[in-house]
Amino acid sequence: MAFVSAGTGWSVAEVTNQSTGYCPDPVCWPAVAKALDRVGVPHPGGFTDRVIFRRCPSCGERNIVRDDDFTCALCGSALPAQWNLTSD
Ligand SMILES: [Zn+2]
Repeated sequence: MAFVSAGTGWSVAEVTNQSTGYCPDPVCWPAVAKALDRVGVPHPGGFTDRVIFRRCPSCGERNIVRDDDFTCALCGSALPAQWNLTSD
């Protein structure tokens, strides 16, 4: 998340769900917006950079899906359509 000075406070210039630790799905945006709204920081209204994460069901590797190619970069297996990086 990148902030810029705006008047007497700050606003969010860029925000992404790219966290290779938590690997959150882009649908988590409402929780981010709620937190920013609560502290009164203006924001873009959505992720400025959205990343799709999937765990490979075959080899367990975490993948970033690019160009809608749901194929594991490590073993070539098909990745699921639904987010599946729940804590393990
Ligand atoms: Zn794999």
